[in-house]
Amino acid sequence: MLAADFTRLAEEIDMVNRSEADWFHLDVMDGRFVPNITFGMFIIEAMSKLAKKPFDVHLMILEPEKYIESFRKAGADVITVHYEACPHLHRTVHQIKESGAKAGVALNPHTPVSFLEDLIEDIDLVCLMSVNPGFGGQKFIYQTVPKIKKLKELITTRNANTLIEIDGGVGLQNAENLLQAGADVLVAGSSIFGANDPVATIQTMKAFKSGFDF
Ligand code: ZN
Repeated sequence: MLAADFTRLAEEIDMVNRSEADWFHLDVMDGRFVPNITFGMFIIEAMSKLAKKPFDVHLMILEPEKYIESFRKAGADVITVHYEACPHLHRTVHQIKESGAKAGVALNPHTPVSFLEDLIEDIDLVCLMSVNPGFGGQKFIYQTVPKIKKLKELITTRNANTLIEIDGGVGLQNAENLLQAGADVLVAGSSIFGANDPVATIQTMKAFKSGFDF
């Protein structure tokens, strides 16, 4: 939603409601973990009154453990925290699960997937950042593709049910490759909201998925 036109937020939410998109992805930034500041639980709660699909809330903030329950109350169905922001990640992941939300962990482009080896079974979703977090509309970092394959291998070896989400620079040009590499969830911002026909673009992107067996 970071790429949406916030002067027409209700219409943008309605577009997503009408589309084949599965979730709303909401990027919360604090100006400390990342250089940018976006929105918090107040806006998310307002959006949740209009939205008819689950809320995937991506916390790009320091000390996310302080705000898990507030984001859950505001309407978050998935809460994703950053590996790099959580010295006690095991505790934070379980705190998210106890709140009733699904627990996600995001990795910055330089953080190896092997850092999740000892926790993968407890994580519902791993978000691989394919740009440096902080701003929308950035170019996809291609080293993400081998990371997807490594992560898929780890998940399969451990018999875990973890979903792989790719966040940053995703569009029609690379969606099929990412799904083929093993991605389950694609976050698309500018490529959707900047399209002439966002609903049709989502439909095209979703169609790539039908060729693969998950
Ligand atoms: Zn995100």
